[in-house]
Amino acid sequence: MIKIVPSLFFLAANYLFLKEAYFLSTFQEFASVTIFLLCSFLLISLISLVIPAIFFSCLVYLYLLIASIINYFKFYYKIVISSTLIQSVIHTDAREASELFNLSFLIWFMLTGILPCILFWLTTKYTSLLRKKAKDILIIGTFLITGLVSNICILPANIHTFRYLSNALCSFMPFNYIISLKNYLSLYKTTNSAENITKVFTFEIDTTDQENLNVILVIGESARADRWGINGYQRNTTPNLAHLQNLITYKEAYSLATNTPLGIQSIMKKEGYYHLSSFIKVFDQLKFKTYWFSNQGTRYKLINLIAAEASENLFSDDIRISNTGNNYDTDLIPFVQDILVKNKNKSNMVVLHTIGSHRLYDLRYPNEFKVFNPTCINNELYYSTNECLDAEKLGNSYDNTIVYTDYFLSELIEILGETNSILIYISDHGESLGENGIYAHSYPFELAPIEQKHIPLIIWASKKFLAKKTNLDKFLNASKKTGIKVDQSSIFHSILDCVGIKSEAIDYNKSLCH
Ligand SMILES: [Zn+2]
Repeated sequence: MIKIVPSLFFLAANYLFLKEAYFLSTFQEFASVTIFLLCSFLLISLISLVIPAIFFSCLVYLYLLIASIINYFKFYYKIVISSTLIQSVIHTDAREASELFNLSFLIWFMLTGILPCILFWLTTKYTSLLRKKAKDILIIGTFLITGLVSNICILPANIHTFRYLSNALCSFMPFNYIISLKNYLSLYKTTNSAENITKVFTFEIDTTDQENLNVILVIGESARADRWGINGYQRNTTPNLAHLQNLITYKEAYSLATNTPLGIQSIMKKEGYYHLSSFIKVFDQLKFKTYWFSNQGTRYKLINLIAAEASENLFSDDIRISNTGNNYDTDLIPFVQDILVKNKNKSNMVVLHTIGSHRLYDLRYPNEFKVFNPTCINNELYYSTNECLDAEKLGNSYDNTIVYTDYFLSELIEILGETNSILIYISDHGESLGENGIYAHSYPFELAPIEQKHIPLIIWASKKFLAKKTNLDKFLNASKKTGIKVDQSSIFHSILDCVGIKSEAIDYNKSLCH
């Protein structure tokens, strides 16, 4: 009895995680989960040996109690504990907090928090056998953990598995609050390092003229202009965008960097003023609600700092909603939908940072978007070597990511359709697909091939937005410039000018809407 009850508790407490693990389809992934759990168990056993028993017991009680609270929110509010959630909990006032703690919470807490603590106490009280076996556990555990770590380092195949895995672990294991707390600290401790641009320049907008306006910036990832059907590519990779009205594509747009953080900085900030905040702070000052939703992680401090300028931000660990063990860009759409409902009578500025066409290409789109075949994914070697050197397969895999980006953008535009909205899409940089033996991106900028710099750039505006004469005039200006050569630094000036913001910070020669 004393062993069965804790086992049942373990199953219940980890229900969400186990459900996710079930969707990790391949045997390899399933095996990784099992090994990970086993190692975690052994690691905990090891810790229990090296620290005083009383201290260890306190840690377990604390863990069980916190896990119970976290699980309650997961079950009833269907939320994943994210860095933003921790932020909002910290800033929630006492009244709001008390609304969350009701009778059902109390019952839940008694059953999944207090009861397991009692069980644990009983277990430790009557189990002296554990101590005797401790030596054996120590030896086996050391071997297994060393084995696992070297396995990960030697076989790149496991890195991808592990990325899926860490995604699932980070989002759904009861201990994910520890990871979120780490994300929260890394995100917010250095928030104020860039000086607010509105303290240096003045920005104005005629608010009666721009009511309930949505400004959406989509940042693409590793997208190449020459692979887009609407830019003249022989393959029809953008069938949905091709049929959209009020959509302008710039065929001669270039990035100012070949990697993600510097590309984003060039898009978001005024050129030559990188020590100041991005234009997010401009919208913030002009009473827009500001959001940063990212389908990428928190790996780059430069990006984290810009994202933290928005009043709300979410990263890939937070937005993961599909059951496939992978994030797709369409997972970002419900967050925009939510804002359109919630902030119907407000103006919103939303940045969507996509994963787009980042390697490994086949991981970026669901199976039904496998339009061009054969792709790299058919080749098992692709996962073990991290490379797909077959030019045809590589091209097909890459083009399928563009097909999916086309779908994502058209779905997004569809939900913005009836609202007063303008959308700009631009990629952070391009991508080499084996031209002259070069692959991927991040080549030194001065030496980088054109494929890593020639990027797609589109502007779309809704009917409601264009119903205003001033907006329409600006949009018509923008539509006359499709042939000119532009770079990422135009975005800062364009996104402000296109919606009628006036400032001495805007270089109107660089604005597409001027
Ligand atoms: Zn990138």
